[in-house]
Amino acid sequence: MDISIIGSGYVGLVTGACFADVGHNVICVDNDRKKVETLRSGKVPIYEPGLEEVIHRNVSAHRLRFTESTEDGVKHSQVVFIAVPTPPLANGSVDLTYIEKVAREIAAVLTEYRVIVDKSTVPVKTGEKVADTIRRYNKAGVDFDVVSNPEFLREGCAVNDLMNPDRIVIGANGDRALALMKKIYEPFMAPIMVTDINSAELIKHAANSFLALKISYINAISAICEASGADVEKVADGIGADKRIGRSFLNAGLGYGGSCFPKDLAAFIAISEQLGAPFTLLKEVQEINKTQRERFVKKIRDTLWVLKDKKIAIWGLTFKPDTDDVRSSVAIDVANDLLREGAVVQAYDPKGMARIEELKLCPGIEMKGSALEAVSDAEALILATEWNEFNNIDLDEVKKAMHTPIIFDGRNLFDPGTMTQLGFQYYGIGRAGG
Ligand code: NAD
Repeated sequence: MDISIIGSGYVGLVTGACFADVGHNVICVDNDRKKVETLRSGKVPIYEPGLEEVIHRNVSAHRLRFTESTEDGVKHSQVVFIAVPTPPLANGSVDLTYIEKVAREIAAVLTEYRVIVDKSTVPVKTGEKVADTIRRYNKAGVDFDVVSNPEFLREGCAVNDLMNPDRIVIGANGDRALALMKKIYEPFMAPIMVTDINSAELIKHAANSFLALKISYINAISAICEASGADVEKVADGIGADKRIGRSFLNAGLGYGGSCFPKDLAAFIAISEQLGAPFTLLKEVQEINKTQRERFVKKIRDTLWVLKDKKIAIWGLTFKPDTDDVRSSVAIDVANDLLREGAVVQAYDPKGMARIEELKLCPGIEMKGSALEAVSDAEALILATEWNEFNNIDLDEVKKAMHTPIIFDGRNLFDPGTMTQLGFQYYGIGRAGG
């Protein structure tokens, strides 16, 4: 199949690379000239485990190429995927200007039948608007179909998720488009769920909101654990062993962040209100998420008393491990909370530091070259993102390097008993003594 992907970011680039890897011919389009030049020069602009290898393999095999031209992409493909950003507006609803612009751009160059697939996360009923827009701006009246094919990949393991999906959701209204979509996904040998377009769009928002709800659920329990002396890890194991519930996404911590959950929840709330069916439960999910971080910072303040001029180390700044994505990272919010109170923040992250400096997300933070350098003379250490590197570190060395061995484990990475034995004053989330 000949496929183009408009938007070559975390979703578009990984999708394009994986489609090429199963044998399709793929054109990745992006209107960011620098990004296209970087990709053409053989470099990969984002960090995603395994991605560079897949891209190189398929560029060499002439199955994958990069362009700035939407016309080039649309002209040379049967199916055109849209994977551009859908950021939040101030009121929580989705900024759909990127999607609308791409719809117009496609319409302007459409000369024969194409399937236009929305892979970006969008509010229910967006597909109808995309179809209306293309119809309005394509003067020649060319036939086309719009399909919704939401993406469920997780950054940090995106290539694996793309290659081995739990399910593929295809929202289509016609057999012609559906047949082409099935052909694209056939090599992935995953269950294909066919729905109407509205249902497919809704599945994505409903799925992300449910996952965020699970995180807030266990975080609310972690607060009760702290107040009662119970251990949230044991409670999560006890709940999660029930097959109807499951253990995944029951990890208490600093709360959810990243470029998807916060914005998708806000968007789902906004669209539910617009439709006259307000999903108020999700507002509580947001509130718990916010409170969880505030409780954590309070714990630091309660322990260290005055934060002004205190040297505090932070390990991990990306929104989750194994990615360089720092968008809406809770770790950065915590760093900024401390900086605002006058603390000296020394941080280390394996992949995210350059991007934070580039985007100026944490003015005043001191980036260090290693985890050990970050804890040098520190009066406390915050574990904010659970990179595996921190799991394998020599904790005796860490203790020696610190001024006072106090650790706030925002992801419950370390075992409280071991840490106490090693001489640390340990504070976890929802754990006895923490
Ligand atoms: P991103 O910002 O990493 O990438 C978007 C790309 O689109 C950028 O490279 C940008 O330059 C390009 N772009 C914007 N307008 C364009 C245009 N008119 N023509 C060509 N290129 C254009 O965003 P992302 O993280 O890949 O997310 C894309 C969509 O996928 C969003 O709707 C997001 O919610 C959804 N999604 C993201 C993830 C994730 O983990 N990142 C997972 C599932 C779904």
